[in-house]
Amino acid sequence: MSSVASDTRAVHAGREDLVDSHVPPLDTSSTYPLPSIEAGGAAYEQLATGGRPRPGDSYVYQRLWNPNVDRFERALASLEEAEEGVAFASGMAAISACLLATVADGRPHVVAVRPLYGGTDHLLSTGLLGTQVTWATPDTIADAVRDDTGLVVLETPANPSVELVDIAAVVAAAGEVPVLVDNTFATPVLQQPLTLGATLSVHSATKFIGGHGDLLGGVVATNGDWAARLRRVRAVTGGLLAPASALQLHRGLQTLPVRVRTQSEHAHKVADWLGSRSDVTQVRYPGLADCDPTGLVGRQMAGPGSMLAFSLVGGFEAAARVAEACQLIVHAVSLGGVDSLIQHPAALTHRPVAPEARPDAGLLRLSVGLEDPTDVIADLAQALDQS
Ligand SMILES: *Cc1c(COP(=O)(O)O)cnc(C)c1O
Repeated sequence: MSSVASDTRAVHAGREDLVDSHVPPLDTSSTYPLPSIEAGGAAYEQLATGGRPRPGDSYVYQRLWNPNVDRFERALASLEEAEEGVAFASGMAAISACLLATVADGRPHVVAVRPLYGGTDHLLSTGLLGTQVTWATPDTIADAVRDDTGLVVLETPANPSVELVDIAAVVAAAGEVPVLVDNTFATPVLQQPLTLGATLSVHSATKFIGGHGDLLGGVVATNGDWAARLRRVRAVTGGLLAPASALQLHRGLQTLPVRVRTQSEHAHKVADWLGSRSDVTQVRYPGLADCDPTGLVGRQMAGPGSMLAFSLVGGFEAAARVAEACQLIVHAVSLGGVDSLIQHPAALTHRPVAPEARPDAGLLRLSVGLEDPTDVIADLAQALDQS
């Protein structure tokens, strides 16, 4: 599979074992017959310690192994240029497993670059899982790293302001410390953090990978050692991806490249139009030159993506009115689907973030979908004109 282009892998990867069927069959077994006490015990041991099943092994129990989850993981890993993938029940379960693996390793200190997704920010700032956080900027990472630092965490493009971070520069500043990149906004179609030296690329698969707003999932692309550690955490904490969701996510990967490229084209048109409005103070979109001063689009990212944010002259009140006045664009959290969604981060997703790090009150975040962009623009125009 690695010899063919990534669009081809998106369609075919993770299906190498299919012989008699065109699409992967769904295996919903919660448990699996054991050939003998001895063989069952050996298989259990292998899987509970984070290994993969050996040929002929029973999968023992769904919390230890599931073929649909495995196929999705292999396909995702192929697109991320990673050795392995490990899938979870949600993006937050995936991030939690990375943090728990670090704490279990005796390295509870995390250096993190804001902005981050509100849930991740909340998890780190509360220390709920036993981590201690130092907030840093890309320039202060090297100083923030300690002997017990287990991870450097960043998001690019970041949620919600779509700011870009230079992954290779952060990897250099982190030295020996593994770097975790939340790659949800970029998807492996636009950015493969492991090829830039990151150790973990994490997704809320709920967003672009699923792409249709009908499931929750998370996945981590990483090396074999980290994959075993994460599977071990997953086996005992139970944040498992459901087999039916794995099947849908695996299917979602097949259209991911076309969806991401088309949605990006649409978003660029919407961003250009927003830039022409006098009631919009700032448009943030990686495809606009002033949002990408160091030229990361083209170098780090293959394209600017379909997430954008914009601020209104009228601040919080105007942002709230515009979100509520949209008719075609759905006023809802989440992102990355075929339908356009708008939300007000200061009021919703970034509510739990400390006041000093909360996004600007007049900022709206827009995920541009597959609708004809002229209709998305017309809807924004009527909502802005009313507000
Ligand atoms: C949504 C999101 C998450 C959390 O994922 P869930 O699937 O909702 O648990 C994490 N990171 C980013 C960037 C997100 O947008």
